[in-house]
Amino acid sequence: MRPLSDKISDNLFPALARLGADTTLEHLHSLARRPPQVLLFEGGTEAARLELARYWACANLCERDERPCFCCASCKAILQDQCLEIRALDGRVSSKEEEENPGFFKSFNAENSRDLKGWLGNFPRLRYHLVFITGIAASRAEAPNALLKILEEPSKSALFVLLVPQREQILPTLVSRSLILTLPYPLDDEVIAPDVADLIALFCAFLQDKGNFLEQIGQKGFLTLSLARAFLSCCQKSLIHVLSACASSPLEILLGRLSAKALSQAIVWTQEACEMLRSDLTPVSPPRVIAAYAMRLFFFGSR
Ligand SMILES: [Zn+2]
Repeated sequence: MRPLSDKISDNLFPALARLGADTTLEHLHSLARRPPQVLLFEGGTEAARLELARYWACANLCERDERPCFCCASCKAILQDQCLEIRALDGRVSSKEEEENPGFFKSFNAENSRDLKGWLGNFPRLRYHLVFITGIAASRAEAPNALLKILEEPSKSALFVLLVPQREQILPTLVSRSLILTLPYPLDDEVIAPDVADLIALFCAFLQDKGNFLEQIGQKGFLTLSLARAFLSCCQKSLIHVLSACASSPLEILLGRLSAKALSQAIVWTQEACEMLRSDLTPVSPPRVIAAYAMRLFFFGSR
């Protein structure tokens, strides 16, 4: 049995290697003998989930065996995102972006979901057609619903892979049709205190123009200096994860939608806000600093 560590040295799956995902891969190998129609990969990082999807595609389409060789024509095409038997959809890609800057991931919208149906109706050149879908939580409701319709009429040659940070973020009807594999969460992820996690969740809603973040932090005695600092530190870490293509939390996914320019501006603003709250002696009001910071990100993100 070839261990994953052989492949790590090849640098094919750096994000999976960092997570130490050997057990998950062994599980995938046994599944490849009778592949389920829908696999859901959760946990890990965004980069690791995509690597796992490529790995799964190699396991099913390798020209040699179910323990992929990573050097036949099929494996090579998969690893370079050029395999014609794979369609990849992302709910965060808009139709406009798809047109202007076509990449491996097309927009996960109702139209592309319906197109899938026609494509899946053709006989695959290799053993299977594979469909990778990510960014599902960010798509309009029509797309997941169109996907559900396709899944209701299963085809033996179509394999779907859903990539989500956590299963709770997508329709329960999609989850119930999937076989779920959970990747280990990144080792450097500290456990976030519940009050900080709640505040981050409110902030995520605020960035999407929902909830009562500003009212909540304005309440007397709510936003202490230490909570404000912990909040900013969490934002800072999230920005770093986004920059290193490891976005997995809801906040990271939202920040990941910012343009490169907006992202570097967000880093500067986070740093500035941290500095304002650094000294215990200067009379700054944490709610004011955080409200101004949040508004900046909100307006920048919505432009
Ligand atoms: Zn191969």
